[in-house]
Amino acid sequence: MTTGYDADLALLINGSWKLGEGRDLFPVVDPAKGETIAELPLASPADLDEALDAADKGFVLWRATPVEQRAAILHKAAALIRERADAIARLLTQEQGKPLVEAKGEVAGSAQLFDWCAEEASRIYGRVLVRPSGQRAMVLKQPVGPVAAFSPWNFPVYLMAKKLAPALAVGCSVIAKPPEETPGSCGALMRCLTDAGLPAGVAQMVHGVPDEVSRHLLGSPVIRKVSFTGSTPVGRHLMRLAADGLKRITMELGGHAPVLVFEDCDLDKTLDMVVPQKFRNAGQVCVSPTRFYVQAGIYERFVEGFAARTAQVKTGHGLEADTRMGPLANVRRPDAISALVEDAAAKGARVLAGGHRGNQGFFFQPTLLADVPDHADIMNNEPFGPVAVAAPFTTLDDAIAKANRLPYGLAAFAFTENMRQANLLGDAVESGMVGINTFAISVADAPFGGIKDSGFGSEGGIEGMESYLATKAIHTA
Ligand code: NAD
Repeated sequence: MTTGYDADLALLINGSWKLGEGRDLFPVVDPAKGETIAELPLASPADLDEALDAADKGFVLWRATPVEQRAAILHKAAALIRERADAIARLLTQEQGKPLVEAKGEVAGSAQLFDWCAEEASRIYGRVLVRPSGQRAMVLKQPVGPVAAFSPWNFPVYLMAKKLAPALAVGCSVIAKPPEETPGSCGALMRCLTDAGLPAGVAQMVHGVPDEVSRHLLGSPVIRKVSFTGSTPVGRHLMRLAADGLKRITMELGGHAPVLVFEDCDLDKTLDMVVPQKFRNAGQVCVSPTRFYVQAGIYERFVEGFAARTAQVKTGHGLEADTRMGPLANVRRPDAISALVEDAAAKGARVLAGGHRGNQGFFFQPTLLADVPDHADIMNNEPFGPVAVAAPFTTLDDAIAKANRLPYGLAAFAFTENMRQANLLGDAVESGMVGINTFAISVADAPFGGIKDSGFGSEGGIEGMESYLATKAIHTA
């Protein structure tokens, strides 16, 4: 296995790729080994000012570009992403840790986002209102303006694409701040856009100390919209910064997804589906199935079957062909997860699989905790790691109450063959997305987003495009 990390690490400002050149550097680490593999240049305040100025000018140019031309560039970028998919996926695995097959899936999904948004951009409609003869009133949808987009390290390519694709499709310019942990794959995505012919200043990429970059960008009147994916505390902080400039915001924040497993489900089929989903991307997924509430009559069989399948999940470097789960993405995560597991065990939870960190890098074993009491920290705080927690429920009402007991409301899942029960659940569960007998809820044409402490606004679907549009009414007498 060769692990040579072949990333061009640079900032993209006003069409120029900017290297070290005296800038501060940030170490990029292979999380499977805990070793530094490259150094990333960070933007200075002067770089950020240059990017803001270019985004302002880029917006004027891009909003006036006919939608067919914008769409053609985005389709070309999608084609380039597909052409370069293997190389981009390899960078992603090296810097983030996920198995290569998952990285390839992420890259393919990102190309699809650009294609879908390019198509949909020509279907942004306004309205003509009824007025007396000779008069007119029209409602127009226009791009909101330059966007500051902050994307996280768990799906570095897909979540950056999820902001770039709709914003660019409708005519906004974007300054993207990808996560410093995973810059190579984000840079490779940006290259596809510039190579597809996106003009300078329309999409830019700045790396930096997150709080310094966000204060600088959000403090500027140039930025009209902020899109953030990450934790709830950081989301709150960015909302406060955005409030001063009255900037539009989309907040895709944390979750703690409940999974309600009913006695009428096909137990083996359900287990075969839920266990790989739990450990996908080592559980570092905002909609990761986490709180497994299982109806009492099948609870013991469920946790036994879950534990047996968990023990089979092969961990290793993401570039190794037989790896099913890689390391956690950064040095912070194993400590955070250890503390949650130890707390739960001390409060009476049974550790039925895993429970410990690995011997090197940032690994943590695939873990199942059963009989976890509500007062355990892990039942209340998003683990964002490879830990499933299980507890029994009795009735439908009990299941709904348990699902809704947290302030989070991103995704919820249920497994049942009873469609009336499924519909009642769909109505009653407090979350932005519900998957019944499926986990396939993150797709290009559907809105993706949460309620309550999981944020607001949608990414994906026409709702995701609308979040980059402003509404204008024009009255003619
Ligand atoms: P964190 O709260 O420090 O950071 C979360 C993300 O926000 C990172 O990508 C980080 O670069 C960015 N960030 C932090 N401060 C920022 C600022 N002032 N301005 C702009 N961006 C900023 O936590 P972490 O240790 O990186 O991640 C752990 C937690 O983050 C998890 O528990 C999870 O809740 C959350 N998270 C959620 C998602 C998601 O998809 N919703 C993705 C990644 C992380």
